[in-house]
Formats: sequence, structure tokens, C-alpha cells
Amino acid sequence: MFNKKNKEDKNKESAFSLVQKTYKYFFPVAWRVNKGFFFVSAIKILVDAIQPFVAIIVSPLIISELLGDRDLNKLLIYAAIIATVGPLLSFIGSWLGVVNQKYGEKFDNYFTEDLSRKVMELDFQVTEDKRALDQVEAARTGMSWYSGGVVGIFSPLFEIIGQIIKIFGTVLLISINAPLIFLVTLIVVIINSLIQNKQNKIEIESFKNLSKLNRAFGYYGWQLTDFKYGKDIRLYGAKELMIERWEGYTDESIGSWKSKSDKQHPLEHLTNIINVSRDIFSYLYLGISVLSGGISIAVFTQMIAASSTFNGSMVSLIYLLQDIVKKCNYAYDYVKFADYPAAIEKGSRHIEDGDHIIEFRNVSFTYPNTDVEVLKGINVKLRQGEHLSVVGLNGAGKTTFIKLMCRLYDPTDGEILLDGVNIKEYDYNEYMSLFAPVFQDFKLFAFSIRENIVLDDECGDGEMNKIIEQVGLKEKTESLEKGTNTNLFKAFDENGIEPSGGEQQKLAIARALYKKAPVVILDEPTAALDPVAEYDIYRQFDSLVGGKTAIYISHRLSSCKFCDRIAVFSEGVIKEYGTHEELVELDGGVYAEMFKAQAQYYN
Ligand code: ADP
Repeated sequence: MFNKKNKEDKNKESAFSLVQKTYKYFFPVAWRVNKGFFFVSAIKILVDAIQPFVAIIVSPLIISELLGDRDLNKLLIYAAIIATVGPLLSFIGSWLGVVNQKYGEKFDNYFTEDLSRKVMELDFQVTEDKRALDQVEAARTGMSWYSGGVVGIFSPLFEIIGQIIKIFGTVLLISINAPLIFLVTLIVVIINSLIQNKQNKIEIESFKNLSKLNRAFGYYGWQLTDFKYGKDIRLYGAKELMIERWEGYTDESIGSWKSKSDKQHPLEHLTNIINVSRDIFSYLYLGISVLSGGISIAVFTQMIAASSTFNGSMVSLIYLLQDIVKKCNYAYDYVKFADYPAAIEKGSRHIEDGDHIIEFRNVSFTYPNTDVEVLKGINVKLRQGEHLSVVGLNGAGKTTFIKLMCRLYDPTDGEILLDGVNIKEYDYNEYMSLFAPVFQDFKLFAFSIRENIVLDDECGDGEMNKIIEQVGLKEKTESLEKGTNTNLFKAFDENGIEPSGGEQQKLAIARALYKKAPVVILDEPTAALDPVAEYDIYRQFDSLVGGKTAIYISHRLSSCKFCDRIAVFSEGVIKEYGTHEELVELDGGVYAEMFKAQAQYYN
């Protein structure tokens, strides 16, 4: 849906429309972030364009004077102009270049942050799509490395104006004195631009390949030096496999670069040969013109300088045009990513305060890009304050049921209703705020204990401390020198603590309780615990939840005794539904069997 479509779109779109869309996207943002860049670039271009004309115009005057009157005053003035004006303009040009470099860093920071924000705002289901991850990588590398960012795509645009000024000036001088030179240079420029065009195509092709490789590199080079993989790598001897994979990707990457330069080198040689031939022709033609008295020596030097500037500017102009297409092609991956269509439609309906009823009506679901229906015709109704236990073996569809309820995915069939209205109609953020789930693979951040619980909420200590006490972390936090301001993990703080598995679960539960959402969900965050410890956590949690709607998921039955209803999931359907008392009585029932098997833990 993502990258493949992207490639097709790019192929279909003309270079011009792609360039146009890229500038249309970036100009308003860049202008808002930093107007200074555009003013500085405009001045720099004027300065750079005027600079070569100082020598082109003044040098022939010096030669004429030397061959003619030899007026010392005039010669000194000409020499002074060349010695001061040229270097001064050159100095101003490079100083403005340095200013622009600083602006470049500002843009880089802005877009790096923008990309991170957009990634965090992506619809959840997109984040499980491999092609989406490739696209994020293409956007990141395309914007920061290959296109050179905002400076990279706008600088050539300004430089084109500068080159046009130079071309206009030199064409004027050459067409008056040596039109043939003008013609030959023009032909050479056209041939060179065709070669350059081919070079660019090779480079773009290589970029596409490398952006995939970079993602793999990112995984092996960065994620796996993360200490959290340390135990598994050592105990399962994964080191060799890691290194092997890393080396595999390195070889592939080197191969890709080599193949690129193998294709590009012969083209570079061809360009050099054409340029040398052009120079030989120019010198011969102008030399003969001087000897035959067609032009003076002063004009000869002026023509040599002007044709060299004209040629340089034409080459630059063509190069810049192609450079724009190339860089916009890279940066366009960012535009595509930024404009990526939402995976689920979002409504605008406001959710009324008060009690809520959630209902699944004939809901079926198949994960994107798969063909197995993991939920089939689910019907269930959850009233305000009701506590539902969802049990079933691994892979039965319990977590998927929760993902649908939290709208991380939309059903493939059927509908989910909140207070009788399809949840798609509600404002997405408002709907999400109804839920406080603790997933099995919950993540705590390398922030302080306090920030992990309240995030950026500005609250007094009272409420947070109450929750810390409720989840049983009071003693632990009080024993720490910095209390709730103690950092977790060692990523940013060498004194950061490494909480035990149980403590992490308690923190995650505290975070969910603090959210004050009307529906709380525990999705097996206790799977790593033994059944008795799990039972304790669920019992404790149930008393903390109070009158909220609660859903407990487990493949053990620890949570069931506290719940009003139990839904037994099996192979994507709700096999049994009822109270604990009803279900244990069912002859040959799945629940009754599971309960019998696990009874030793709960009696
Ligand atoms: P449970 O929570 O009961 O263990 P899940 O809801 O996690 O079960 O999974 C149900 C089925 O859906 C399993 O077969 C699982 O492999 C599959 N599944 C889960 N997540 C995904 C996904 N992101 N993409 C494709 N299939 C998935």
C-alpha cells in the first residue's frame, strides 16, 4: 500500500509535477520556520553572479592598456579593482554561505522533530506494516541525507537565477565577438547534460535500494547493541547470527555502492574527453582569429574567460535543473509520508459524559495483508461498571478483541457501537481517551517514576502518591533518595534504577489508573508471573478499579472470580459466555475444563 504504490506514483508522475508538489509542500513550512534563509540566499546569488564579471571586463582593459598607451594611473586603478572587488565579493559570498549552513541545521532539527511527531501520530495499524517502516526510512534518509533538506532543495533554485544572470552577460559578449564559440559550447553543454541525466537516474535507483538496506542496518547496528537484548544474545548464542546478518547487509551495501560507481565511471570519462575537445577547439579558433587580425589580443582573453564562464554556467544550469529533480525526488518521500492517508476514518461526534455501553455486533476481523479471519462474528455487550473477564488459549483472539475495542484497528465486518452509535463516528482522540489499557508488552520510558505515571500532566503530588500507595509502590519509592523523581533505567541517568518485573507492572498499572479513563483493561501484563502472584495483582486491581468498566484478559482464570461475566474465546469466536457459576457447571465446557485443570492455584 505504501512503498510500491509510491514507486508507481513516482513513475507515473512527470518530473515537473513532482518538483512542483515538493516545493509546494516545503515552501510554506520553510518560510514559516525561517524566512532569513530566503533573504540571505537571494543576496548571495546576486553577489556570486556579479563576481566573475569583474575579471572578464577589467582584464581585457589591462591588456589593451599594456599593449597601447601604458597609462600607469589607469593600470593601477584596473589592478586595484581586480585585487579588491573580486575578493571582497568572494568573501561576502562565502560568509553568506556560512550563515545559510546554520539555517540548514535549524531546518534539519525542525524536520527531524516533525518526522518523529508524525511517526508517533501514525495510525497504529500502519506501524505494524513493513512497507510503512520502509517509507518512514525513505522519508528520513531522503530528507536528511540525500536531498540535503530544505537547503538542499532550495539552494539550487536560487543558484539557477545566478547562473541565468551569468549566461545572459556572457552570451552578450560572445555573440558580438565569436558566435561560433557560442554554438560549439552550446552543443557540448547539451551532450553533457544528457550524460548527467543518466548519472542521476543511476543515483536515484541506488538510493531506493539503499533506503531498504539502511533500515536493516538500523536494526542490527543500533537496536541490537541495546543492553536490553543482552541476556538473550548471550544465552542463546545469537551473537554469531547477528554478526553474520550485519556482514551480509554490509556486503550488500558495498555491492550496491560499487555497482553504482561502476556504471557512473565510464560516463565521467566521456564527459572529460568532450570538455577537453571543446577547449582545444576554442583555443585554436580564437588563436587563428587573432593571427588573421579578426580580433585583438584583449578580446581574445576576454573571449576565453567569457566562454569558460558561459560553459561553466550552462553546465551548472543543466546540472542544477537535474539536481532539483533528483533532490525533489528524494524529498518527495517525505511529502508522501506526511500526506499518508489515515488507515482508519475519523469522525467528529462528541462523546457525551455519563455512563457508556460498548457493544460488538457481529464483528469479524482479518489483519491487513493476511487472509486468516482471527475474529468471527463476535457479539458482546459491556455495560458501565461491568467487569468482563476474557479468557482463552494463546492465539484465540483476545488481544485482537481489545485492539478493535480501542480502535487500533477497524472491524473487517460488523460494527462496534458506543451508546448505540458506530464508534467510527466519534472524534478519534475523544474515543481513545475512554480507555486505559495495560498491554502484555507495555513499555515504561527512561523518564522519572513520576513522569511515567502522570506523563506531562501537571498535577499535585497528592493524587499520584495515593495511586502509588494503592498499587503497592509506596515503600519502594520512599526508599529511594530522590523518591518519585528517580529516573528509570540508565539511558540518561547513571543513577537510574532498574525496576523488577513486578515493579514495572505496578508502575504500568499506576499509569493506567492515573489516566482516569472510564474503561480499564489489563491484557495479560502479568503473564510473566506465577498464577498465585497474578491472582493477587488481579484481586488488588479489581478493588482499585471500583465502579469503572474493566476488562481482564488472561489465559489463566485468575481474573474470573471477580468478574460479572466471562467470555471464553476459542479460535476467534466466543465459545462460552456467562458468570463463573454458570460456566463451571457447563458439562464438557472449555471453561469448566480449564477451571478444573487450574483449580489447585485458586482453592
Ligand atoms: P491472544 O491474545 O488470544 O493470544 P491474539 O489476538 O494476539 O491472540 O492473536 C490472534 C491471532 O491473530 C493469532 O493467530 C495471531 O498470530 C494473529 N495476529 C496477531 N497480531 C497480528 C498482526 N499484527 N498481524 C497478523 N496477525 C496477527
